[in-house]
Amino acid sequence: MVVVTGGGRGIGAAVCRRLAATGHPVAVNYGHDRAAAESVAGEIVAGGGRAVAIGADMAIEADIVRLFREAEAALGALGGLVNNAGVTGPISRVEAITAEILAPVLAINVTGVFLAAREAIRRLSTRHGGAGGAIVNISSRAAGLGGAGEWVHYAASKGAVETFTLGLAREVAAEGIRVNAISPGLIDTEIHARAGLPDRVTRLAPGVPLARAGTAAEVAEAVAFLLSEAASYITGAILPVSGGR
Ligand code: NAP
Repeated sequence: MVVVTGGGRGIGAAVCRRLAATGHPVAVNYGHDRAAAESVAGEIVAGGGRAVAIGADMAIEADIVRLFREAEAALGALGGLVNNAGVTGPISRVEAITAEILAPVLAINVTGVFLAAREAIRRLSTRHGGAGGAIVNISSRAAGLGGAGEWVHYAASKGAVETFTLGLAREVAAEGIRVNAISPGLIDTEIHARAGLPDRVTRLAPGVPLARAGTAAEVAEAVAFLLSEAASYITGAILPVSGGR
């Protein structure tokens, strides 16, 4: 069973569909959009797979702990985690940043990723009697590009995700757990409009070396690879899925 945080929409939904297609039972987590997550889970079940939608705010520790308990109760032992839930926060130059803007970005993108990984390690690690598994964190090319003029706050939170990936990979490598990150570039989801920039994908796509935005399904392929045994010798890697951006 794989827990996918923020699995109801965008990249997370594509990851849930892709994992279900190769036989993984999927816990489709949602923060606010219950209908979207139930629709993804329902689609998987209708196709003969196993899935359940579970509400849990990735900014709240008690919710994260409950998410893993409910996922196990519904679908059996954990085999993997996709730390996908993330927010950009509003567009803001650093000179205008406030603690109110920073708090949810860091709580969801950084603290939530740490705590979900903690819950996964307690179940997967051979040190705790687990059978091993894999964790994939969804970072962003913003971590390397910096997000100037748009969202340095978001880019910095993803920088933390990448360093976390490197450190955790080494910490649990001998315990049967591989930890990797995907660094998506410009992907066509609702995240841009939600940040207040509905034309961002159209505007920036021509500047991507492959001259287009990527799709959530293209990111999901890379996630499925890193979770799978085909990636058995890969840990601590940060794989750009960015069309060269
Ligand atoms: P999206 O369409 O806006 O979806 C965001 C997902 O995160 C939703 O499923 C949302 O669920 C979930 N989420 C947000 N806050 C949450 C919370 N507090 N608790 C639980 N879930 C929460 O964005 P996306 O493009 O698919 O982004 C997915 C990941 O890819 C993010 O980590 C993002 O930073 C990263 N990424 C995206 C791009 C891009 O260009 N699209 C590029 C690089 C990286 P609810 O609606 O149910 O709350």
